Amino acid sequence: MNNHLSDRITNMSTSATLAMAAKARELRNSGKDIIGLSLGEPDFNIPDFIKEAAKQAIDDNYSSYSPVDGYADLKQAVANKFKRDNNLTYGLNQIVVSTGAKQSLANIAMCMINKGDEVILPAPYWVSYSDIVKLAEGTPVEVPTSIDTDFKMTPQQLEAAITPKTKMMWFSSPCNPSGSVYNKEELEGLAEVLKKYPNIYVVSDEIYEHINFRGGHVSIAGIDGMYDRTITVNGVSKAFAMTGWRIGYIGGPEFIAKACTKFQGQNTSGANSIAQRATIAALDAPVSKIQFMIDEFHKRRDLVLELLSEIEGFNVNVPEGAFYVFPDISSFFGKTIKGTTINNASDFSLYLLENANVATVTGEAFGNANCIRISYAASEKELREAMARIKAIL
Ligand code: PMP
Ligand code: GLU
Repeated sequence: MNNHLSDRITNMSTSATLAMAAKARELRNSGKDIIGLSLGEPDFNIPDFIKEAAKQAIDDNYSSYSPVDGYADLKQAVANKFKRDNNLTYGLNQIVVSTGAKQSLANIAMCMINKGDEVILPAPYWVSYSDIVKLAEGTPVEVPTSIDTDFKMTPQQLEAAITPKTKMMWFSSPCNPSGSVYNKEELEGLAEVLKKYPNIYVVSDEIYEHINFRGGHVSIAGIDGMYDRTITVNGVSKAFAMTGWRIGYIGGPEFIAKACTKFQGQNTSGANSIAQRATIAALDAPVSKIQFMIDEFHKRRDLVLELLSEIEGFNVNVPEGAFYVFPDISSFFGKTIKGTTINNASDFSLYLLENANVATVTGEAFGNANCIRISYAASEKELREAMARIKAIL
């Protein structure tokens, strides 16, 4: 059957995060006691004030197509949020609301990338970046980083990766999967290099901005010289536990916003109307309303780091944001544990799933073959049990 499908879809990898989550779900349905630490999804309920706004929107009959780029008052709430949290000034004509940040990224790729254009991805990068770039016929250029630099790309590495074909650089801070957070000086260092290459655009994925344990999130669009060449991507999935409601948005140069609106007009006609109305309530609320989630993630990060430090062979950085740890487990490569030889991170992740009933994701999917990703968006009880099981089988 496959030969009837396009090369485009045949050559695309399945999202490793979603595939692992599906596998864990399937095993759980078959009666196995699986602890799912594979999916980056807050385990909190959506705050009541956001649910109320959605219910109100249904009663107020927000049931027609919205403007393709989002309701004007939602775009105003996005503009206010950018100003309040990031000190970025975006007019409504620079903002596009989409069906999740994932669609925002896909829109950007389809609107900015021509065949053969190179897109620099500091690795590890979020799993979908490289396939989204490839779908747009771009060429992902991975810049490997390691635990020694806290998984951050240095200005020298950026400069070395730039060629005449470089069109964009995509990164997330706080980073999925490493949890690393670029500070102002580090972003200024990257901006200094980019100054020499005025045609390179930056996608700054800031979906974890509030889940930042050090505080003081910095947007690269606010660094000198970067505003006109940065597309800032964000959404409500992570900060407000609204993953299933599928709302993301961008702020960026007007011509890019216009192109994304045109593209989305031929694809989705815009995001879900009820979820858009609820997002106004979410974005208008002060960050203090979601601080309890951030505090909880902070506690869990400390717990997971402590428990992992008791397991020999895990080399872990201290993630300053998001809700992942990304341990280097390459010390296990070449070893045979209870009859299973571990040759790579995929073998290791599979070994944990089959023997400890703990779902994680291989680092290969994120462009780093020495690591696995563990999401700690799970209860303290589950995290303690998962780490105990992993320790026992290793
Ligand atoms: N960017 C990053 C770094 C992510 O981890 C995710 C996770 N879903 C997304 C974008 C996409 O988010 P969503 O489509 O749910 O808004
Ligand atoms: N972003 C989350 C993750 O990395 C959700 C899954 C996905 O959208 O791929 O696990």
